[in-house]
Amino acid sequence: MDSDIERVLVSEDEIAEANKRLGTQLAKDYAGKNPLFVCILRGAAMFMMDLIKHVDIPMEYDFMDVSSYGGENTTTTGDVKIIKDLDTSLRGRDVVIVEDIIDTGFTLDRLIELFNTRHANSVKIVSFLDKPSRRIKHVHVDYNGVKIPDAFVVGYGMDYNERYRNLPYVGVLKPEIYSTK
Ligand code: 5GP
Repeated sequence: MDSDIERVLVSEDEIAEANKRLGTQLAKDYAGKNPLFVCILRGAAMFMMDLIKHVDIPMEYDFMDVSSYGGENTTTTGDVKIIKDLDTSLRGRDVVIVEDIIDTGFTLDRLIELFNTRHANSVKIVSFLDKPSRRIKHVHVDYNGVKIPDAFVVGYGMDYNERYRNLPYVGVLKPEIYSTK
């Protein structure tokens, strides 16, 4: 599988450093608030599980599965569908949305709008990766992991056609992978 990767963009060490920094900050900011972390499946699953090990305060989490990419595409459509909704009520909760990557901003823009209609007390965002050059919708990311250039990345939870999620680092696929798989 590693032979499909052209280059590593975020190494395991950089990932660990980002998780520690973000988790420690979140623990400080949310002390006494029992925040609800909402993991956006499936890409953010690995990130959230590593991140919350550093959030050393009482907290809860839940999962939501949304889709912003259709089938084989590697470009955003702007259309966000809820595939699995939350089991937890957001009313009065301090919510932290946990995303793998913010690209055009459509997904987070829609989710913030949705969560506000559910009467959350506050909604903030932690995103592991950020591709600022691709932004269409302005979204304020409260906790930023690593900024990356405009490239389609895989690994550390992120996929191409459901593959490569289990890579422990973030990398860029060789161009021939897109044309052959
Ligand atoms: P946005 O709505 O901000 O354009 O896209 C957010 C979602 O698109 C992310 O949660 C992620 O699922 C997907 N996405 C955006 N860029 C990439 C990328 O480079 N690689 C992968 N695997 N998914 C991406």
